[in-house]
Amino acid sequence: MNFIIKNALIYNGSTTAPYTGSVVVTDGFISFCGPEQPTGVKYDSVIDAKGNALAPGFIDAHGHSDMSILAAPEATGKVSQGVTSEICGNCGLSPFPVTDLNREHLQELYRRYNVKITWNDLNGYYKEVKKRNPFINIFPLTGHNTLRAAVCGYEEHKLSHEELAKAQKLLDKTFHQGAFGLSSGLLYVPGIFSDATEITALLDVAAMHHKPYTTHLRSEGNGILESLEETFSAALVAGLEKVHISHLKIAGCDNWHKIKEVFNTLAHARSMGLKVTADRYPYTESMTQLSVVLPAPYNTLDDVALEALVLDNAEFKKLQTALHDLPPERWQTVRLVSTSASGMTDYQGMAFSDIASRFKRPPAEICAQILREDATGAMGAFQGMNPDNMQKILLKPYVACGTDETARPEAYTLGRSHPRGFGSFPRFIKLLLEARLPMPQIIHRITALPAEIFSIPGRGTIETGKIADLVLFDPEKLSDNATFANPHTLCSGIHTVWKSGKVTWQQDTA
Ligand SMILES: [Zn+2]
Repeated sequence: MNFIIKNALIYNGSTTAPYTGSVVVTDGFISFCGPEQPTGVKYDSVIDAKGNALAPGFIDAHGHSDMSILAAPEATGKVSQGVTSEICGNCGLSPFPVTDLNREHLQELYRRYNVKITWNDLNGYYKEVKKRNPFINIFPLTGHNTLRAAVCGYEEHKLSHEELAKAQKLLDKTFHQGAFGLSSGLLYVPGIFSDATEITALLDVAAMHHKPYTTHLRSEGNGILESLEETFSAALVAGLEKVHISHLKIAGCDNWHKIKEVFNTLAHARSMGLKVTADRYPYTESMTQLSVVLPAPYNTLDDVALEALVLDNAEFKKLQTALHDLPPERWQTVRLVSTSASGMTDYQGMAFSDIASRFKRPPAEICAQILREDATGAMGAFQGMNPDNMQKILLKPYVACGTDETARPEAYTLGRSHPRGFGSFPRFIKLLLEARLPMPQIIHRITALPAEIFSIPGRGTIETGKIADLVLFDPEKLSDNATFANPHTLCSGIHTVWKSGKVTWQQDTA
């Protein structure tokens, strides 16, 4: 089985200028690429690219499709953006290793995907992935939270010597089975209970296998500089080569000014010999439960406690007052994303200040009403990041594009994505073109760079002998169309996507 894509403007993943030429794919591999065309070869099919751009398939440096890929292997949210590969198992959460101590918890966490966790290790999980023949390649990291819970559950607890040795052994096994690195999410339970000794001991194992360490920092706001220090000092002690900061951002307007110090800290770590990289989604709003808008003391309640509280009349009154006491400008920065609360469907995607003017009622009152009906189900978006900082981060040559999202179908059958789940890559390209970064450099950042960070063999560039993961797109028509109101809207401009020479996405861009 062979085919030729001719008249393409080829960005090969390096930072050099593109050239017009052809790519020949034979049995899933690139058998020829160059400005001319091989002569005397017969093709099963000929594709005229008509001058459109051809690039290596985009690599999502930060995804969470670990389980959705088993439920919806066509991965529409990702392939429609040109993605052919995803690094999953991020933020400390991977679906392996599994023991009696974390199986039930993981099953509950992933219940929406309706997949029974029958495996114990990476091999078992990956067998299930392979069975589905997914439309994107899945390159899993071992999540520190899952690993820790496999050894001692989710309770607050310092690892004993024996437990730490057990965790190291389990981690070592995941690397032998092919994990692409270790990820942490030190803001979440149970990673939040870990200390420097624990992290360093695990990084020792990663260093032995020459694997990268990716981290969702313990703090991305007030404690961001300390969290970076914590990461780099553990990496240096362990003799690690590569450290990758997940979704690099500075949360909270009081911290936005720290951007320079953040960059300096990264530069310093680099000067100490660490290969430091990062990923970022090209949006300034985060998405999480709407209830995080609640100030203290409500911000420490778990879901069960909050659901009970809103049903208690006296307590609910107090909660209403707390919301009324928030500064009025706050409501311009909080959006309702989704809720099952009655009569609110039409307002999904709107800022509370706008919903309030439609209803001619105070925003706090509307928010309280939603929380009473749908305390833990309602989702909100929060303007917590600064657009200038985002631009500065995106312009750094060591920053790859990461959606921080789960591959979902277009229909909302497996939950609702942040718009980044359907729009990150076109938006990343668009924003960097607007910032006057040359296209080859942009393409490099979403192909060869992540392939290099995670040591993905055979992918990330268009070269003879490489795997034929390719994307044909029209740079002029490239646009992300997903919004908070309609987050699963497909982007425009992505024409055809191939994974190992097989078409995984096709859309008329004419
Ligand atoms: Zn994260």
